[in-house]
Amino acid sequence: MEMEPLRDGHGRRIGDLRVSVTDRCNFRCQYCMPAEGLPWLERAEILTFEEIARLVGLFAAMGVRDVRLTGGEPLVRRDFPTLAGMLASLEGVRELSVTTNGFLLKRDAERLVAAGIDRFNVSVDSLQRDRFYQLTRRDALAAVLEGLEVLSAFPEAHPIKINAVAMRGFTEQEVLPFAALARSTPYEVRFIEFMPLDADRAWSTSQVLTGEEIRAAIDAVHPLEPEPREPSATARVYRFADGQGRIGFINPVSEPFCADCNRVRLTADGRLRTCLFSLHETDLRGPLRDGADDSELERIIRDAVWRKELKHHVGEPGFIQPTRSMSAIGG
Ligand code: SAM
Ligand code: SF4
Repeated sequence: MEMEPLRDGHGRRIGDLRVSVTDRCNFRCQYCMPAEGLPWLERAEILTFEEIARLVGLFAAMGVRDVRLTGGEPLVRRDFPTLAGMLASLEGVRELSVTTNGFLLKRDAERLVAAGIDRFNVSVDSLQRDRFYQLTRRDALAAVLEGLEVLSAFPEAHPIKINAVAMRGFTEQEVLPFAALARSTPYEVRFIEFMPLDADRAWSTSQVLTGEEIRAAIDAVHPLEPEPREPSATARVYRFADGQGRIGFINPVSEPFCADCNRVRLTADGRLRTCLFSLHETDLRGPLRDGADDSELERIIRDAVWRKELKHHVGEPGFIQPTRSMSAIGG
């Protein structure tokens, strides 16, 4: 069933859906969650696999081609590979990807690849055990690196991306080790600027280590050349001039890419968010459980998407941080 493409009121065509499958997580990253965790959603509040599949199917019928599963930590949701398989078989879904902290990849990589996940983003913020512990509050670097190794044995899973959040006062020491990793392995490393979505609300502009600063630091040692930017791509990608690997920078704070943002998000409790920084969200779970048919759900989705924010206002006077933090939104 192919419908009219999904568009917002600013002329942007929506082709990318991020689905949070749980708000729970086995890590406590400083820039995301408090040490004690957050009040988790009750099981009944979370969309079932069938509900997620129904909504993703509707989005796919409206032209959404890329679906990314995230959280919280998606791999802690029980039977997550089963959900992945259900979504992979939906008509219209072209790319089904997962963002994970990697801790459970050793256990699940094979099942996820078999289920049809074709892209993996693994978050790693430090390549040193003690500094990894400091940031994630878990002594888990070895397990994550093992998980990456297990995953990299599957050719279908490549290219594997490694995402590192860049924080001033921490990430400077990680820049050259990550550049070395990008040059010596098939992993594509990408630095993401720290955004005001931390549950501790400790973010300030002074804590953002910009992508340009990191790029310049790498370029001084290993010259970089820009790759052409793909439409709606969040990362600015560079290749090492000597041909050994690539590295990317996601700069939502210093160089926002809102103008061609084609993304919307579905939270684990079934709220549609049209921007990471939305102050307003649309309930899809209520109508879904009240028996809404597809055309009713379609109307609610189109209305919400039409009102997608033109841009975010991070760093501007009057910026308001959303109530939900990153793990409760689905990054
Ligand atoms: N738990 C999984 C993980 O960490 O990959 C998936 C969910 S996590 C919320 C998704 C991504 O958001 C991760 O790459 C994480 O590093 C990033 N993230 C979390 N809080 C952030 C923040 N305040 N600013 C920038 N990126 C953030
Ligand atoms: Fe968990 Fe991912 Fe948030 Fe870290 S960034 S606390 S791994 S949800």
